[in-house]
Amino acid sequence: QLFSQFSISAEIQRALTELSYKKPTAVQQAVIPDALLRKDLIVKSQTGSGKTASFAIPLVELTDWEENKPQALVLTPTRELAAQVKEDITNIGRFKRTKATAIYGKSPFARQKLELKQKTHIVVGTPGRVLDHIEKETLDVQKIQYLVIDEADEMLNMGFIEQVSAIIERLPSERVTMLFSATFPADIVHLADTYMNDPKRIDV
Ligand code: AMP
Repeated sequence: QLFSQFSISAEIQRALTELSYKKPTAVQQAVIPDALLRKDLIVKSQTGSGKTASFAIPLVELTDWEENKPQALVLTPTRELAAQVKEDITNIGRFKRTKATAIYGKSPFARQKLELKQKTHIVVGTPGRVLDHIEKETLDVQKIQYLVIDEADEMLNMGFIEQVSAIIERLPSERVTMLFSATFPADIVHLADTYMNDPKRIDV
């Protein structure tokens, strides 16, 4: 299997070549085609499996460059992961000029507010700060069509699940949701049952 077998633009193929991603990993082979079809997905995955690109490639492909308001939201448990995911999206979207913004706690709110006033396609952040920006109306979620919940079990361990639910409640209901987790405790299953639309389970 090669990246060229997916329906992804030449701009993304070129970025993957520059990143020296030669072949899709197992999780990428399983996730990318369904994500491109805009299916809700529950993915059992570990870090190091290439899971970030498995959602970043479809998000970059599916977002419309012309739209100025954010179209995708990625929630991560930590600041470090948010920064890394933003970096990966920026690299994959380099030739499409996809704009990603990371928003997380312990970093100046005002600067993030200014960043969110600029054109941005994909917002990546930790739940507390994302919720804060939504409540203060510095993050406009009207056009969010894609939600990724990354490392959902870590989010639960860190006590963020209520904030994750509060965020989801504020998003448009017409959206695609992808949830990634290494384990599936009851609270994660409940989250998926409550907020996802006939999700397909992928276990690689
Ligand atoms: P992740 O599991 O998303 O944290 O990715 C683990 C590492 O694998 C990261 O350094 C990625 O840049 C790298 N990576 C992801 N997909 C591929 C691929 N298809 N080929 C080579 N490296 C990859």
